[in-house]
Amino acid sequence: MFVFHPIIEGPRAGIPAGLSARAEGAYLGLAVGDALGATTEFMTPREIRQAHGVHRHLSGGGWLRLRRGQVTDDTEMSLALGRAILDAGGLDARAIAESFSAWMRGKPVDIGHTVRRGIVRYRQTGQTAVPLNDQDAGNGACMRALPIALCTLGLAADAVAEANRIQSHTTHHSPLGDAGTLTVIRMVQTALLGVDLAKLRLLAEALVVEEPRYRYDRQRLENPGGYLVETLQAVFQALFGAHDFETALIDVVNRGGDADTTGAILGMIAGALYGREAIPRRWLAALDPRIKESCRKQASALLRMAPKGRERGWES
Ligand code: MN
Ligand code: MN
Repeated sequence: MFVFHPIIEGPRAGIPAGLSARAEGAYLGLAVGDALGATTEFMTPREIRQAHGVHRHLSGGGWLRLRRGQVTDDTEMSLALGRAILDAGGLDARAIAESFSAWMRGKPVDIGHTVRRGIVRYRQTGQTAVPLNDQDAGNGACMRALPIALCTLGLAADAVAEANRIQSHTTHHSPLGDAGTLTVIRMVQTALLGVDLAKLRLLAEALVVEEPRYRYDRQRLENPGGYLVETLQAVFQALFGAHDFETALIDVVNRGGDADTTGAILGMIAGALYGREAIPRRWLAALDPRIKESCRKQASALLRMAPKGRERGWES
């Protein structure tokens, strides 16, 4: 099923430099956040303090024994989704499910339980959407959603929501998860167009009105689990508690728990908001070079598909 099928034209008016830098910032921010947080994934803040003081370097290690600068499933699934969209020239549920299945065949360093179950089910049944399941409000669909934010930039809100459901429901199908993931996509899109933190806060507040379980203004959330509610509470607290990429990312990964995923989600939003230049050079230098290259290429290729630029012009 195609949500939209862009006509790929020849060379056309370039994407404004600011937008390009923010899109790259979002994709590199996702990868850097994943790599930084993977070191402290499933640790408590206390264990992190004992081992690292404040964890602030892309040092690898962690429970997955990663190389320095290595990313995990959060970044790899985003790239798999982006590849499926670019190869199909649009959003096709089967192409997405196939791409996730091919990724799993490559024996990834890490894979979530719900993701694995969804891919196995697709292989067995050929169905590209799992049944509704309230237990599916896990992180797996949100952590990989960045390509949707890029390629649907400028599309009407309900079409963006439908695009998100297509990618999410290949493995995760819950209204609670859909609402949280769509908010992250909207935050990235809003940030890409150049706004300040206050505008992003309005989107988080709107999510809380729609679904009060996402309230994030109570006590500081530590050890966020794999449940998207906790993940977004930690991400929003760290994002709105800082005014730069580095401070926000260090805050969230030092909370431990599902730290590579809080890092990845915060990294894509903050990277879109503050842009590529705001990501510390030491982190970009340490990031796996092949991943860095894929993130850069996909950021611009997915953005070139976006209706925002194709139909209305980037400046409007
Ligand atoms: Mn991961
Ligand atoms: Mn994780």
